[in-house]
Amino acid sequence: MTPITSAPVGPALARAHHLLRQDMLGYLDSVEHLTSEHDVEDDTILTVARTEVPRLIAVLRATVADHRADRDGRCLGCPPTPVDGRMVRRGWPCPVLDRAQGFLNDPDSVYDAVPYERR
Ligand SMILES: [Zn+2]
Repeated sequence: MTPITSAPVGPALARAHHLLRQDMLGYLDSVEHLTSEHDVEDDTILTVARTEVPRLIAVLRATVADHRADRDGRCLGCPPTPVDGRMVRRGWPCPVLDRAQGFLNDPDSVYDAVPYERR
């Protein structure tokens, strides 16, 4: 079996990762700000919600579609991990969907889980 190893990314790839992350977080910050009932007029909130909520739903639907169970109850979206010398997919629901479900049920809990994401 080939061991799973990771190598540090180079500075150019690290920069690309940072920019991708900032782009996504910037988008979320914008949607959050433009739908803030304290700072924004209702008409703007409605306009932003009509365009951005479907996009956000599509992202979550794609995540749910990717992280579905195969016929053995293993997640097709998560990479296999070594278990007792074999590469095995995680059981479903996997950590990705488990966390997403938890955050759907309790959105504020995301800031307890990842406090560095708080605005
Ligand atoms: Zn998964």
